[in-house]
Amino acid sequence: GQCTIACPVGCLTEKDDTQKVKDAIADKTKIVVGMTAPTVRVGVSETMGLEPGAETAPKLITALKKLGFDYVFDVTSAADLTIMEEGSELLERVKTGGKFPMFTSCCPGWINLVETCYPELIPNLSSCRSPQAMSAALIKSYFAQKLGKNPADIIVVSLMPCTAKKMEIARPQLKTEEGVPETDVVITVREIGRMLKEAGYDADSYTALADTPYDEFLGVSSGAGLIFGSTGGVMEAALRTAVTLTGGDGTDFVAVRGDGEDGVKTYDVTLGDGTELHVAAIHGSGRAREWLESTNNGEGFHFVEVMACPHGCVGGGGMVPADDDVILQRAAGLYSFDAGQTIRKSHENPIIQQLYKDFLGEPLGHLSHKLLHTHYSDRSPKE
Ligand code: SF4
Repeated sequence: GQCTIACPVGCLTEKDDTQKVKDAIADKTKIVVGMTAPTVRVGVSETMGLEPGAETAPKLITALKKLGFDYVFDVTSAADLTIMEEGSELLERVKTGGKFPMFTSCCPGWINLVETCYPELIPNLSSCRSPQAMSAALIKSYFAQKLGKNPADIIVVSLMPCTAKKMEIARPQLKTEEGVPETDVVITVREIGRMLKEAGYDADSYTALADTPYDEFLGVSSGAGLIFGSTGGVMEAALRTAVTLTGGDGTDFVAVRGDGEDGVKTYDVTLGDGTELHVAAIHGSGRAREWLESTNNGEGFHFVEVMACPHGCVGGGGMVPADDDVILQRAAGLYSFDAGQTIRKSHENPIIQQLYKDFLGEPLGHLSHKLLHTHYSDRSPKE
């Protein structure tokens, strides 16, 4: 029979982890580091009764610092890093005739689906960790070194639109050399809202907060990193960099945005060096399954983005429950924020350039493999 998986995005196992955050803050021997996913930047507004899609990160950072967070970083920076690594991996596969299509790997709902029901596609998955896992690995290694601290004294709290990210952090592949999880706690947008309300914030007092920028270590991001939160965003971010780095030109790849037909958008792109790529972006795990079925596992495609939630993370299981109109307002918020950025391509992000120069070396290099890539395992039910 057909492989079944109750809820690949983790909606059935959600539990409240806000107490863990409070305990970490209360423990004065620990340094508490928060990090926010791209979608969180437009998702928290609704928990405060503000307009859907409003970008309120500078207020959220102030509120988190008042709650006792020592640092707040932007996972969007690591989304830019993901593009550097994943783009390089794609070009490497083109050069060496590797497995196609290459599938994105940033969505743990999709990874759960592949490992459980499509283990034959494991070699097709990008080996890149999710931006959450990349950020955490850098915080517990390079950032800990910079602070002169033991990684065990740093508590990484990931603020996410996603319930499946709570499962991702338990993966044995994502532990430090000392055996501790790189990300300690995941809290969803709903849980962030709960903490803010408990601290007494409402629409007025939240809006009245001063603006605070992200802390420097992972504090600058491109518009490309930000649109990771909407279906087609990872693909568009990858195309911006792949096209530009091969000598071509292009920023807005609108063909991969929006709903698509039955949740699928396909696009043919010619890179600057003449390489032709056939790509697709799909949202919703059910539609991904239908698409795999109807295309013989994506035959003829080079690069495919799959996000398990409808519309991508803006429709994530950890967001405030909403109808399609509100979800699309969140996506519109991300795209308009992107359009207003001066840095719109991941490889132009100065802190990512610096990170390669000072620490990582080059994409797909030794340290990248250790900290930014991962592997998958066949978890399909055995007869
Ligand atoms: Fe999580 Fe986003 Fe994937 Fe949904 S689409 S499971 S919110 S990563």
